[in-house]
Amino acid sequence: MTSDSGTLRPAGPAGRYAPSPSGELHVGNLRTAVLAWLFARTTGRRFLLRMEDLDRTAAGADRQQIADLIALGVEWDPPIVYQTDRLPRYREVIDELTAAGRTFECFCTRREILEAPSAPHTPPGAYPGTCRRLGEAQLAAKRASGRPPAIRIVADVTQFTVTDVLAGQYTGAVDDFVIQRGDGTPAYNLAAIVDDAEQGVDQVCRGDDLLASAPRQAYLTALLGYAPPVYAHVPMVLNADHIRLSKRDGAITLADLSARGVDTATVLSHIAVSLGLGAVGERVDLPTLAERFDPATLPRHPWILTDDEW
Ligand code: GLU
Repeated sequence: MTSDSGTLRPAGPAGRYAPSPSGELHVGNLRTAVLAWLFARTTGRRFLLRMEDLDRTAAGADRQQIADLIALGVEWDPPIVYQTDRLPRYREVIDELTAAGRTFECFCTRREILEAPSAPHTPPGAYPGTCRRLGEAQLAAKRASGRPPAIRIVADVTQFTVTDVLAGQYTGAVDDFVIQRGDGTPAYNLAAIVDDAEQGVDQVCRGDDLLASAPRQAYLTALLGYAPPVYAHVPMVLNADHIRLSKRDGAITLADLSARGVDTATVLSHIAVSLGLGAVGERVDLPTLAERFDPATLPRHPWILTDDEW
């Protein structure tokens, strides 16, 4: 862990890669990291690495991820920020929002949320507003029940629009989303945007499975008075069944592939081919990819990765 990532000193605009250290990075994660590096470096930005370690961490996974990124040639500007070093700052932001009347305690279980009739004007799947409307007596009764509440944001919009390099203007649902979980941990949607803003991140490149989260995050960013970043949600790597890669898919990490005799340079070469930035069998490095990189020509569909690839 770094000792000084609790307070951040931004030094110019930046892009970033923000993995969760829950296990080894797979080829899909590595491809997204390469793209985040390319987007940042080809636009004159700093490139930052942030470990999103607020939940689901595996011992040593951060070190393994760092080693794999280095092996691939992905370089970043130090320090590596660990979110667990930033807990007091997230707490401050949550307290500020609460003091401004922008939060409420939510005692709902997942099941209660699913079963609640959706209120008028709330989009399908959105939080139905149950605990936002509790009166004093009801709130006291809920608190007395002993179930620790999550904290949700009071959203005063139902949708928000973000700018995405690949998706264009993208409008998506915003509801009273959770900013602190029932166990007291700040939610990803809060921690990530506070860090992005305070690290000077104005370009967010990540997998397009997170595109639907961007309107909520950009809304909270604006509510806190920060400028929203420009997004680049990039296509994912999927397996033959068109679902995200998992252990069941066999060799998907650098270690798995190395055990099969596929070295890191070959993995990078395949990533380059998948992005239209290299010829089959061509050895490449990241600076070469940067010379060829053009967001306009990036594939807009997922890379279907099967065992035959190698
Ligand atoms: N930590 C998240 C993940 O690994 C990514 C968050 C982000 O890039 O905003 O899925």
